[in-house]
Amino acid sequence: MSHRDARRAAARANKALILDSEASLESIQNAVETLLGITIIVSAMDIEQHDLSALTADCDDDVKLLYYAPKLSPLHRQQSILHEFSHLLLGHEHTAAGINIGEFSRSFPTQPRKLLGRKSLSDDAEQTAEILADLLADRISSNGRKSPDEPGGLQEAFG
Ligand SMILES: [Zn+2]
Repeated sequence: MSHRDARRAAARANKALILDSEASLESIQNAVETLLGITIIVSAMDIEQHDLSALTADCDDDVKLLYYAPKLSPLHRQQSILHEFSHLLLGHEHTAAGINIGEFSRSFPTQPRKLLGRKSLSDDAEQTAEILADLLADRISSNGRKSPDEPGGLQEAFG
């Protein structure tokens, strides 16, 4: 997949995500849940032993457990969560190979069927998810900007 194709796929997924309120991590999560018919439970990892910033555990068709590393800066945490939302929006859990990350999987309430993390996904999937995460972050950071020459505003995204 070329970078251009990845950008196109990410832009399409971004456009399909209609928010019912001002863009925020919460409104984006709500929209992802509604669009995909799933519930996402977001929480901090309770152990700090991996260099992962975030991962998603696929425990059930309808419930995804999203974990982020506890020591991230607020911005890095937001980006990591948006990145995981992006994998879900792009349907990557259907193509990911299952990975087992040892000790960490024991901390799940139920043994996950699959963990979505960098090792389980192709570079194309990672690239596309990263671009989509950036687009979603742009929607959050564009909130409240009124300048007409500010690119990436909601008006433009839905125009
Ligand atoms: Zn990823």
